[in-house]
Amino acid sequence: MTRVVYVNGRYLPYAEAGVHVEDRGFQFADAIYEVCEVNGGRLVDETRHMDRLERSLGELRIPLPMSRRALGLILRKVIRRNRVETGLVYLQVTRGAAPRDFPFPAAGTTNPTLVCLARRVDGAKREARAEGGIAVKTMPDIRWGRCDIKTVMLLPAVLAKEAAAADGAQEAWLVDSDGFITEGASSNAWIVDKAGTLITRPTGNAILPGVTRRSLLDVLSRENIPLVERPFSVDEAISAREAFITSASGTVMPVVRINGVSIGNGYPGDLTRRLRSKFHQAVEFSR
Ligand code: PMP
Repeated sequence: MTRVVYVNGRYLPYAEAGVHVEDRGFQFADAIYEVCEVNGGRLVDETRHMDRLERSLGELRIPLPMSRRALGLILRKVIRRNRVETGLVYLQVTRGAAPRDFPFPAAGTTNPTLVCLARRVDGAKREARAEGGIAVKTMPDIRWGRCDIKTVMLLPAVLAKEAAAADGAQEAWLVDSDGFITEGASSNAWIVDKAGTLITRPTGNAILPGVTRRSLLDVLSRENIPLVERPFSVDEAISAREAFITSASGTVMPVVRINGVSIGNGYPGDLTRRLRSKFHQAVEFSR
């Protein structure tokens, strides 16, 4: 349960936390967010999340509302005040509140809105899910051309996940107009082909450069596991030996079914399980 939420300088009870009705995050999805894993009360990969936050804000020309150090203090305080040992911390920055008009408000007329909340995750439940693996459903990727920016404009992901859930799947894999998988609705997508080669789509405008993806690349080089960064098709995914997704909320999560078809023997693959077990050896922990 979330007890305390940071909103623009104040730590408020959950039920009282809110932003202005003319906040541009609310009206235009004119906002950026980050989600970091909290593991043993520690932040995971804070530096990479803050780097991506700064980059996303820069692409939208939203100023960083305060120094990285000050942001870090808020993250920590929100984690502590919500007594989160295992879970997530969520940070959102919007362009701020202004009378509704499409162009940016004149410089100096509004300040960015900053919201931060933290939530526990049931670690045992997540492990159980990883033991069994998840099902995914493929859906057309109807998002915009700048999926590398982590905006709150998430309606295509909401619709895709809803369609996946209706089919009993836990994630949607989004498919571009050439039949290649871009990424999950809220994760990056990976497969291991029949020859044992690990494949994931290269970064670019079509996918979010996942922090978990990036840290997993470090695991791969430490472990001397070869990787090919290239797009892969739905057919390739369905006939893969293994598949998995990466995200801050699930780290490395095995995929055992795509569109109702079992992947490999229908159980989490050996390489996937190995990567999941090694993942936290390559991350940055901070308190
Ligand atoms: N792609 C999308 C579209 C996402 O929403 C996420 C999760 N935020 C990811 C990839 C994974 O990113 P990360 O590893 O930084 O959580």
